[in-house]
Amino acid sequence: MSKLWSPLVHTLEPYVPGEQPKMERLVKLNTNENPLPPSPAVQAAIAAAVQSGLQLYPDPESSALRETIAKYHGLSMAEVFVGNGSDEVLAHAYQAFFRQGKPLLYPAISYSFYPVYCGLFEVEPHTVPLNEQLEIDLRDYRIPNGGIIFPNPNAPTGQLIPLAEIEALLADNTDSVVLVDEAYIDFGGASAAVLVPKYPNLLVVQTLSKSRSLAGLRVGFALGQKHLIDALVRVKDSFNSYPLDRLAQAGAQAAFEDEAYFQAARTAVITERARLTEALQELGFEVLPSAANFVFARHPAHAGAALAQSLREQGIIVRHFAKPENIAAFMRITVGTPEQTDALLAGLRELGL
Ligand code: PMP
Repeated sequence: MSKLWSPLVHTLEPYVPGEQPKMERLVKLNTNENPLPPSPAVQAAIAAAVQSGLQLYPDPESSALRETIAKYHGLSMAEVFVGNGSDEVLAHAYQAFFRQGKPLLYPAISYSFYPVYCGLFEVEPHTVPLNEQLEIDLRDYRIPNGGIIFPNPNAPTGQLIPLAEIEALLADNTDSVVLVDEAYIDFGGASAAVLVPKYPNLLVVQTLSKSRSLAGLRVGFALGQKHLIDALVRVKDSFNSYPLDRLAQAGAQAAFEDEAYFQAARTAVITERARLTEALQELGFEVLPSAANFVFARHPAHAGAALAQSLREQGIIVRHFAKPENIAAFMRITVGTPEQTDALLAGLRELGL
């Protein structure tokens, strides 16, 4: 605290990222990174970008990358916005669409950056409880609002909302933006990107951090009709004209161009998720059905916090949320390599499960 701070800074409650511990031989299953490296084509493209042009500013519009993403999703470049990780894209979306003097709706259990941005951008939050099965029920979002945001699949539960339910909400909620945060969509869900041409109120946000193994490169993007993208560009160009450096633009483009690698990598995660889920169930865990690269699991005889702590003592790191109460029993476990799954299962057996 300092008297020199702007008043708003005193009120902020910043996001706390999952830890990146420096321990050796760590089994790191706490931040939903992809256990596989990115496509070799990404490394080659970044190496080439290092060789030429770093003395020059990057393309402020990231045109080549946006063109590639647009083609991938059957849209035009004017319907694509890119940013420094999807967190930055979400931040710009708050500025661009949610400062309406009316509450922003989002699930009571969800991505913990949503309330943080409400604080930063002075947006009133209105949280909507999950149903008994810890699912998002979009029928509960038919109330006056200045915007709606939810992840699909949800984090940290991993549960997926069918596209038809999202489309029904879009058809009803025409006076504010519905932002579908698809950070984990490539691990088994149907993207709302196909609905972009039909719904002027839809913004889909995705990231290369998860399914394309590029958390370290910081690239995310939004898909929406041109009038929405134009608003994001106005905010971006009032903040930082060059959010994506030359290496990020080159690497991200190469990731989208290596479709075979992408398909193989996401299939590997999906296959491993099924094995992890089954093995946890055999140990007595209840595992929520996950369409993401993590599972949310609880054991009837062991508290989530105690289990996470005991695993940690064995060098196995998972994520535990102490609050709210109805999820405190759960651990969120990232789907890792088969070796990491084996280490986790051995660690749990070590604890007598
Ligand atoms: N949305 C959700 C639901 C997430 O879990 C994450 C990852 N923490 C993000 C967005 C942000 O991802 P990134 O900034 O790496 O693109």
